[in-house]
Order: sequence, then C-alpha cells, then structure tokens
Amino acid sequence: MASIELSLTEDQRALRAGVMEICKRYPGEYWRDLDSRREYPDKFVTELTEAGYLAALIPQEYGGAGLGIREGGLILETINYSGGNAGACHAQMYIMGTVLRHGSEAQKREYLPKIATGALRLQAFGVTEPNSGSDTTKLQTTAIRKGDRYVVNGQKMFISRVLQSDLMLLLARTTPVDAVKRKTDGLSVFLIDIRNLKGFEVRPLRMMMNHSTNALFFDNVEIPATSLIGQEGKGFSYILDGMNAERILVASDSLGDARWFTEKAVAYSNQRVIFGKPIGANQGVQFAIAKAHVSTDAAQLMRDKAAVLFDAGQPCGGEANMAKYLGAEAAWEAGNACIDCHGGYGYAEEYDVERKFRECRLYKTAPVNNNLVLAYVGEHVLGMPRSY
Ligand SMILES: Cc1cc2nc3c(=O)[nH]c(=O)nc-3n(C[C@H](O)[C@H](O)[C@H](O)COP(=O)(O)OP(=O)(O)OC[C@H]3O[C@@H](n4cnc5c(N)ncnc54)[C@H](O)[C@@H]3O)c2cc1C
Repeated sequence: MASIELSLTEDQRALRAGVMEICKRYPGEYWRDLDSRREYPDKFVTELTEAGYLAALIPQEYGGAGLGIREGGLILETINYSGGNAGACHAQMYIMGTVLRHGSEAQKREYLPKIATGALRLQAFGVTEPNSGSDTTKLQTTAIRKGDRYVVNGQKMFISRVLQSDLMLLLARTTPVDAVKRKTDGLSVFLIDIRNLKGFEVRPLRMMMNHSTNALFFDNVEIPATSLIGQEGKGFSYILDGMNAERILVASDSLGDARWFTEKAVAYSNQRVIFGKPIGANQGVQFAIAKAHVSTDAAQLMRDKAAVLFDAGQPCGGEANMAKYLGAEAAWEAGNACIDCHGGYGYAEEYDVERKFRECRLYKTAPVNNNLVLAYVGEHVLGMPRSY
C-alpha cells in the first residue's frame, strides 16, 4: 500500500534547491520582458534542459534521470514558486510519457536520448481543434495511410510551443467515426518531426499570457508511416493513459503559483501601512490570504496523494483530477487575494502580480477545464450518470 511522506526526502530537497539555483538567475524582470514581447524563455529552458531537469521522468536507460512524478512536479512547482512560468516547458514531461509507454523500442531509442539531452525538443501536443474543443473524439483532422506515408489534413487550435519544438505529438482520425464501433476508436497518435514539413502552417496567436500558442493548418502534409505510435486506431486510449501525469504536473504548476502569490501578499500586507496600521491587520485583507493558504495546503496534500499513487503504479484518476482542480482553484484564490491586497500596485507590471495572475488563470481552463474535472469526479468517482 502506497503511503504519503509528509516531508521531502534529502534528495528531493536537493532537487528543489538545484532548480531554485537556476531560477534565481531568471528574476521577475526576465519573465516580464519576455511577457511584454510574447517571446519564449529560450535561455531558461536551455539551461534547465542542460542541467537535466526536463529529462527527470525519462528512464535512465534512455538518458534521463528516471525520477518519479513527485519529483517532476517538484521541479515545475519550484519554477512557478520562484516567479517563473513552467508552462514554457512542462509539456515535455508528460508528452514523452506517451512515447515511453506506447512507442516501439526503435522509437524510444531514436528519440528519448535526444530529448533528454535537448538535441531534440518535444514540447508540442496537438489535440484541440476549432470544431471539437473539449469533445476530443469529434476531432476532424485526418491521417490517411498511403503506402509508407500518412497524409494529414485538418486544423488544430491553441497548440502551444510548436515554433519552439522539433517534434510534435499529434492526434488525428485514421478511421472515419461512422466506420468504428465506439467513437473513441479510429484515432491515432503520431510523433512527427515538424521541422520543414511541407503543407504545414503555424499561425501564432496573441493570448492573454505569454504561452507561445498557435493555430495549425495541415494541407496534404505527408508524414512517414513510422511516425505512428503504437497501434493505429488506439490513440485515444494512449492519450487517456497520459492524462493522470498531465493533471499532477499541472497541479504542481498551480501550487507553485499559489505559494508565490501567498508569500508576496503576506510580505506586502505586513509592510503597507494605511489608516495607521499594516493593511494585513485588517480581517478583510488577512482572511482572504489565510483562506488561500488553507486551500493551497489542501491542494498540495491531494497532489502528493495522486503522485504517490501514480509512482506506485496504482489507479489515481480521481486523485489526479482532484489535484488539478484544487491546485488551479487555490492559485486563482491566492492570485485574487494577492492582487486585492496590492491595491493599484497589483495592476502595475513591475510587481509581477498581474502577470502571474494572468498565467495562473489558464489552469482553470486548460489542459482540461474544471467543469470537465467535476464531470469526471461525478461519473467515475461518485458513480453518477455521465453529464455530457
Ligand atoms: C493558452 C492555451 C494553451 C493551450 N495549449 C494547448 C496545447 O498545447 N495543445 C492542445 O491540444 N490544446 C491546448 N489548449 C486547448 C485547451 O486544452 C482547450 O482550450 C480546452 O480543452 C477547451 O477547449 P475549447 O477551448 O474548445 O473549449 P470548449 O470545449 O468549447 O468549452 C468551452 C467551455 O464550455 C464549458 N464546457 C464545455 N463542455 C462542458 C461540459 N460537458 N460540461 C460543463 N461545461 C462544459 C467549459 O467551461 C469550457 O471551458 C490550450 C488552450 C489555451 C487557452
């Protein structure tokens, strides 16, 4: 039976200290400047990769550190807690899991060691489409087998870090939905090299936060048949397999945000004197921050429980989803408490509060919106009818 350790091990503390050491070289000014220009934190991601942190979850036999999801989460949490934005690189940790679990030995040997060293970047994951959104099985992008190739046609929406990746994991329909028994059949996953791909167009979208997000267009794009991961038609189940890791890692991003906001709010409201006393002495200010702290600690316990179950190979769908939900809500609560106590300064760019506020909001919506997390809990944890 898996059990939760309430404190970090010595190795985990060293891991966190190592990541923090790098983060200190990338202060608020760095992220703020990139945010205003909507540019990718290339220098930061390169340094993190070279230090091996983005290969934390890749097994040692493929050149990674072979650590667990708890450690992966700790890395991301530390980045966001430092004031940075792990959203620039978190996806590599969960995308590579699909290759690891379902790729052939040849694919693993070809790609994982290069991803581990940073020779190849796998930061892009193409699922969402303009006409299907959260309803993944309705996606319309097709990949049709022609000899030793597949020909891809369609559109993807809100796909992040494509211009900063060499490889992308793509979900496309290989058998029409009316020719399969279940709508979840007939979808396939491909690991494609997106450098110089003919017929492939990337249109960057200016989003609320700096997230390198794009609309993608595939016009008769030919990809080698060898880019198929696992069996044709089984892609949806492969993507589902990776979701618990994704939920736990995103919950960790949010926990780092929540801690950053709370610390910043405490420091500011303890020193800002209005009406002759620190504003933090007012219950209206103090309780909002204290409530956010309560929510964050509770979210952390759920994230830790999900991580322990995941690393022990035990079912953790409910816990991973609840961790993502609680983490995103705690960060949002802490963000609101932080912006409120800063008054007008909360809106001034130089305080970084408004930037973090915009960044943390994403995780209530993506990679899965919190309504669908509740739908999962209602159906799969509580045994209620499917609500959609
Ligand atoms: C900055 C950013 C980066 C992203 N990066 C990626 C990426 O790299 N790869 C990728 O594939 N996708 C990415 N996404 C897409 C993201 O995963 C989707 O936005 C999300 O899954 C929702 O899809 P949608 O936007 O089409 O919303 P819709 O599916 O249209 O849903 C809209 C809203 O309706 C509500 N809703 C929908 N269905 C239900 C229901 N059954 N019950 C209750 N409420 C419901 C929810 O509140 C939801 O937010 C990104 C999105 C953003 C904003």
